[in-house]
Amino acid sequence: MKIQQARQHYDIVIVGGGLVGASFASALAVQLRGSGASIAVVEAAATPQASSSFDVRSTALSHGSQRLYEQLGLWSAIAPHVTPIRRIHVSDRGHFGAVRLDSAAMQVDALGHVAENQPLGQVLTQALERDPDIDLLSPASISALTPLPQGMRLQGQGAGGALPAIDADLVVLADGGRSTLLEQLGIGSSQTPYGQHALIANVAFSEPHRHVAYERFTDTGPMAVLPLADDDEGRARGALIWTLPDADAQAVTQLPEREFLHRLQERFGYRLGGFEKVGARTLYPLTLSVAREQVRPGLVLLGNVAHTLHPVAGQGLNLALRDAQSLAQQIARARAQGIAPGAMSVLQAYVAQQQNDQQLTIGFSDYMTRLFSSAQPALVWARKAGLFSIDLLPPVKQQFARQAMGLGERRALQA
Ligand SMILES: Cc1cc2nc3c(=O)[nH]c(=O)nc-3n(C[C@H](O)[C@H](O)[C@H](O)COP(=O)(O)OP(=O)(O)OC[C@H]3O[C@@H](n4cnc5c(N)ncnc54)[C@H](O)[C@@H]3O)c2cc1C
Repeated sequence: MKIQQARQHYDIVIVGGGLVGASFASALAVQLRGSGASIAVVEAAATPQASSSFDVRSTALSHGSQRLYEQLGLWSAIAPHVTPIRRIHVSDRGHFGAVRLDSAAMQVDALGHVAENQPLGQVLTQALERDPDIDLLSPASISALTPLPQGMRLQGQGAGGALPAIDADLVVLADGGRSTLLEQLGIGSSQTPYGQHALIANVAFSEPHRHVAYERFTDTGPMAVLPLADDDEGRARGALIWTLPDADAQAVTQLPEREFLHRLQERFGYRLGGFEKVGARTLYPLTLSVAREQVRPGLVLLGNVAHTLHPVAGQGLNLALRDAQSLAQQIARARAQGIAPGAMSVLQAYVAQQQNDQQLTIGFSDYMTRLFSSAQPALVWARKAGLFSIDLLPPVKQQFARQAMGLGERRALQA
């Protein structure tokens, strides 16, 4: 429930109530229900609309993420705002070869669902506000974390000025990829810029999308159009993610609408007919960022603050939700044994459980991005051969599909 003033002590405080922090809080509350554990979420934005997490983007949710939201009792509220993906079509501009993944062939109703972040944010925030076992302190921003003999002390600012200090046995840092707290704690991260920006916009086109998600690789970077519900005028609509080299990103974003649609058409082709309209355009600089430490006594990093991935493979949130579920389970197991949630044994067990999944998912999206962003002849041939072989060899294709659906988390992709 929403509160005006926090208690002096909590078992667990989550800093950041964005996509990851809010989802984790609900997962934790479900795992700890009836145990008497105290949980708080501190969120800087006053409303979901003001949070950068719940902006105009859309997110491809995997089967695994859907299952998690079902277990949390949230999927029925999310479902009216999602569009199912029944086919994924992966192609390489200017080259033969395409991978087609079909939900019918995979014997599932949908390969995943596209959720618009704004309504998803509303549902997740309302769940926090409703939950009797969660204190939601917002707007409030944490500006300092200090280690205690057991746990951490949090200090910051609320609507009425400085907050009274809050002590927590465990702080879950879910404050996103631009965390200032990480720097203050002296936790470094490896940063690998892709030299690209992602241009995000909703687009309308003349042909129905038939629930196909298109991933298209071009010599200047990958692009995707994910299916969305029709617009108010009944026009077919999709979420565009277009990666552009840093040098071109601003200029393309600012093109007049007709020229922008022309350029898009030229890069994407006519699989969706003619592009007719584009909504607000937003740019995101793209860097692979992985924190060098994920846990310390009384502290764990979750979501973008732990690892920020290239968005085109649609893996960042899906991976973070698997991390969130695993961490919630470890904390519940520890509590049943009388072990504090911030104990290193608990946090290390979490890291050990997720390490393989994190490495595979980060490696997969990074490899895909690099392989499919290059115009070098050797790489062009490699991906051409790769796309053909994936399409021709059903077991490889199934594995590829499992990765794309977020279900292949603990298996290497073998070609
Ligand atoms: C263009 C794009 C497309 C994407 N598409 C997909 C996709 O299709 N599938 C997928 O799985 N992933 C996708 N992702 C990745 C996904 O968006 C991220 O994994 C996700 O947003 C990470 O959420 P987060 O909660 O960790 O961080 P954020 O979204 O940054 O949220 C952080 C929250 O913390 C709050 N906060 C920050 N500092 C403080 C503080 N000091 N005190 C209190 N509160 C604070 C902020 O207000 C915010 O609400 C995409 C990413 C991008 C950029």
